[in-house]
Amino acid sequence: MARYARIIVDISQEKLDKTFEYRVPERLEEALAVGMQVYVPFGSRRIRGYVVELADEAEYEEEKLKDVLSIVKDSVSIESQLIALAGWMRKNYGGTMNHALKTVLPVREKKRQRERRRVGLAVGAAEAKEYLADCVRRHAVARERLLSALLREGELDWEVITGKLNVSGPVIRALEEQGIVRIKREIQYRDPIGARGQRAFVRTLNEEQQRAVDAVLADDAAGRRATYLLWGVTGSGKTEVYMELIAHVIAQGRQAIVLIPEIALTYQTMMRFYDRFGARVSILNSRMSAGERYDQFVRAKNGEIDIMIGPRSALFTPFLHLGLIIVDEEHETSYKSENVPRYHARETAIERARMAGASVVLGSATPSVDSFYRVERGEYRLLRLEKRAKEAPLPVCEVVDLREELRQGNRSILSRALTERMEDRLAKGQQTMLFLNRRGVAGFVSCRACGHVIKCPHCDVSLSQHGDGRGWLVCHYCGYREAPPAVCPSCGSRYISGFRAGTEKIESVVRQRFPQARVLRMDLDTTRSRESYERILSGFANREADILIGTQMIVKGHDFPYVTLVGVLAADLSLHISDYRAAERTFQLLTQAAGRAGRGELLGEVVIQTYDPGHYSIVAAQAQDYERFYRQEIAYRKLMSYPPVWNMLVLLCASRHQERLEEGAARIADHLAGWLAQKSVEGVSLVGPADAAVARVKDVYRKVIYVKAREYGTLVDIKDAAERYIRDERTCRELTIQFDFNPTGGF
Ligand code: ADP
Ligand code: ZN
Ligand code: ZN
Repeated sequence: MARYARIIVDISQEKLDKTFEYRVPERLEEALAVGMQVYVPFGSRRIRGYVVELADEAEYEEEKLKDVLSIVKDSVSIESQLIALAGWMRKNYGGTMNHALKTVLPVREKKRQRERRRVGLAVGAAEAKEYLADCVRRHAVARERLLSALLREGELDWEVITGKLNVSGPVIRALEEQGIVRIKREIQYRDPIGARGQRAFVRTLNEEQQRAVDAVLADDAAGRRATYLLWGVTGSGKTEVYMELIAHVIAQGRQAIVLIPEIALTYQTMMRFYDRFGARVSILNSRMSAGERYDQFVRAKNGEIDIMIGPRSALFTPFLHLGLIIVDEEHETSYKSENVPRYHARETAIERARMAGASVVLGSATPSVDSFYRVERGEYRLLRLEKRAKEAPLPVCEVVDLREELRQGNRSILSRALTERMEDRLAKGQQTMLFLNRRGVAGFVSCRACGHVIKCPHCDVSLSQHGDGRGWLVCHYCGYREAPPAVCPSCGSRYISGFRAGTEKIESVVRQRFPQARVLRMDLDTTRSRESYERILSGFANREADILIGTQMIVKGHDFPYVTLVGVLAADLSLHISDYRAAERTFQLLTQAAGRAGRGELLGEVVIQTYDPGHYSIVAAQAQDYERFYRQEIAYRKLMSYPPVWNMLVLLCASRHQERLEEGAARIADHLAGWLAQKSVEGVSLVGPADAAVARVKDVYRKVIYVKAREYGTLVDIKDAAERYIRDERTCRELTIQFDFNPTGGF
């Protein structure tokens, strides 16, 4: 029972870390909880504040502290709920309460008025249509898109046009010079799309969709609030199901949050929500300033909107009567925050919904192993869409064995099968996407003759090679290391090495092989800014190039109707990152990449090149069989005690002083081992400290300690024990520690 309370008195302040400490009188000890509104003495006044933290020990001088006066009765405030959620996040993901508060509460910024550009037609509709027809004839696809959008919408934001609509600035200006459009500058208004009347465009659901909707509504009517997994291939009509459920929630005077990974929030998707719900919808994106985000949250709080769509952070929209949270593409790794607190938006959504009495619908074509496992355990309810809403043939998928290519004397990155098909597409004027499945920082080592990959004997993940190809092979889960072999331990071939080819290398190979082709490349180097990212994608969508080469950033989001061939250059690259989720990532990436081919009228083909054609993630991706993949994957997770069967915690220790880090991290590990023994907690595996995958970042040294336990709660206790230890232990002073529960990436 806590004796001290930290209280925040002004929630709209710019800095949330200004908390005041009060004593909790005995009569309130039992009732008080994080998030509650209380009365406290403040100078000579009595004011309201929120409890943000409860503690057993005082941080300030005990004698100087005043008592909390009372709990504010009947105050239903959204802030209370969000602060309570922050408390849950702090507990379950680590970090300070201040970190958590900053994540859930919008921060007010001194607002500058910003000029905003709007684009509208400068000619009448008839003339615009004439010009549009001309664009269609000339295949001026960008202009065509802009004009039809303007004919439909009247006026659009500059950002919407260059962003989601994929039309570049110069194109808009050219149209302005021709007198077709007009660019208006106005002081920024708050609604990012522009208030428009509700048009309530409603589609009749098909039988499967209706069954899914009915299941949720029946539960809701019976007062049951649950988490549902809506599983259906792309195009099966999930978005229509979301919208139908949202309509019901709104009709009851409640609100809805729709989480969509930013990269997947396309202009088309946005417009579908607007067409149905009009101005009651708002959108968040990461390019908004804190002030703009704050504006959106104020509108939500004032009841001006009912639906918020956006990435992770939209989860904290201050809706007071939240009825539904949708998490679309729930398998996406971007739902896991990379900043402290490293929360997972899916889990946090479920907790927020629980607090608010709302339901959660998770949607995916390739559900995370995590969610599917919870369906099997009866924690989530499965809703299934098996058919595509619009008939569209699935692309044909071929797997090429790269070992066989080598045997036949082809040492190129491009297999013969892929080369032939690329030639064919060039001749037909259709487009090709080449996808390099590259993730992680350090490379694995494999044999190009037989496909053998060097793995950790203890953890069954690939070893990573450090340095220039001669360095040690290291396991990031346990610190095991060995020298790189000179020949393949399995077949004796000398062709054993790390796969090092990047997109740049591939570009040069492609240019050499197809000198007549127009080639675009997209990777971190070519997309430093958001603008260049959009420029490359819109250029490709406008058929300014024949071949697009890129990393995983090209497999999501945009629709390219003229792409009829997708080549995955080395599917193994994501298969052997040192991460227990490697196979899951591979299956998802391959499925998504395959989904890029043949979106339009034309039939698509996919060529997957790999050294390991028998691997279950590749076999299942080729067959587009999720369940087959899941069965094998969950067996592996069970065997190795990996999440979601067990839970995992990474302690990332960092310091500028190498020796102190080594000493401190070792002490923490020792302390935790001792603590576990003393509490006789069993079945916990603790390994490390080991060097992090990136052992030094900007002169800060990093070490990791891995802990696995069956129960998540055990890991929370271990986190608390570690936090207490480094707070009190002198030798850990120069050390920072971060926690990552069930991590989604390497360190
Ligand atoms: P998903 O979200 O699963 O990818 P969508 O909801 O985007 O699927 O649906 C795919 C396409 O099918 C869209 O063009 C959508 O308008 C159309 N569609 C979905 N449901 C229906 C329906 N019941 N009747 C007609 N068309 C539909
Ligand atoms: Zn070999
Ligand atoms: Zn290992």
